[in-house]
Amino acid sequence: MSVVYDFKENIKKDELEKISKTLNNGGIVVFPTETVYGIGADATNSNAVKKIFDAKGRPQDNPLIVHISNLEMIEEYTYGVNAVEKKLIENFWPGPLTIILKSKNKLSNYVTAGLDTVGVRMPDNDIALNIIEASKKPIAAPSANVSGKPSGTKLSDIFEELNNKVDVFVDGGNTIIGIESTVVKVEKNVVNILRPGKISLEDIEKIGLKAKLDKHIFKDVKEGEKVESPGMKHRHYAPTTKAILVDFDDDKTMLNKIKEYKLNSNEKIGIICYKEHEEYLNSIGLKTIVMGKRDDLSEISRNIFSLIRSIDNYKLDVCFIEGVKRQYIGTAIMNRLIRACGYNIL
Ligand code: AMP
Ligand code: MG
Repeated sequence: MSVVYDFKENIKKDELEKISKTLNNGGIVVFPTETVYGIGADATNSNAVKKIFDAKGRPQDNPLIVHISNLEMIEEYTYGVNAVEKKLIENFWPGPLTIILKSKNKLSNYVTAGLDTVGVRMPDNDIALNIIEASKKPIAAPSANVSGKPSGTKLSDIFEELNNKVDVFVDGGNTIIGIESTVVKVEKNVVNILRPGKISLEDIEKIGLKAKLDKHIFKDVKEGEKVESPGMKHRHYAPTTKAILVDFDDDKTMLNKIKEYKLNSNEKIGIICYKEHEEYLNSIGLKTIVMGKRDDLSEISRNIFSLIRSIDNYKLDVCFIEGVKRQYIGTAIMNRLIRACGYNIL
């Protein structure tokens, strides 16, 4: 049986100690970060890390992010950082930014999926930092969800699918950001964004660095095509219900296209939509699920995974999801939505 510790109000010392013992004994622990919930193990212990892959059903070619609580761990487990990486760390850590660094081979091969690099980040969440610090180990922690499903942003969304597969669940309430960290690799002094997140291209340019989005951020990976990050190849975030992204620059076209679809179909149609569109879409007979106000990208990112998880409850034939502007965290939201919809776009 998995045990649940409630750290919503405060971090309990005796339970923190039990968590660090569990991790040091090769157990696995679900805990909150500022992005999404993670499922963590001692990154130096292959038996422990293997359990994460088993619990998630994660393909073994997809490496895990290693979470650290102090900069000495960088020295210990990687060959260090260059000036650009240092600047990223100074500006964005602790925070939702994962940096791919050369690995020293002191970590389990399961963590790196056999690559000579490792993704490292320092989370901006007291519970996560305390757990890492208490265990005195780098903690490998992918998102807490069964592979293919949306990442968990609150415990109730993931409890059933991971219950009895992990030793401990730590409840820290809803995560603040709601989508996973930005993953970057610095090459020739350019910050290549392999997975967009809260730390955006614009944020990185604002501190005076050159940045670019990897070509696969909005595109499917073709069979046999080489990718910078193995996670790009895998099916992700999808509900069982057929989902279609509605992506138009102006609202009028967007609503007209949806209405046209509705008029020509006898399917039961739902839509994850902006608050501003709720009334109209209801009036033309769609089941509406509100993602937040159109311009509040933080609210949308906080809600989106939980809403995608909820789609299957409505027994719809098809569910539309309204797209957002591809700027700041909107780039990351669109990256997840395109995948959730399996590249189906209206
Ligand atoms: P998750 O752990 O579920 O948040 O996913 C981690 C993401 O980071 C996946 O898309 C991985 O493919 C990517 N990643 C982790 N380590 C590396 C690495 N060494 N090189 C490239 N991508 C990585
Ligand atoms: Mg994941």
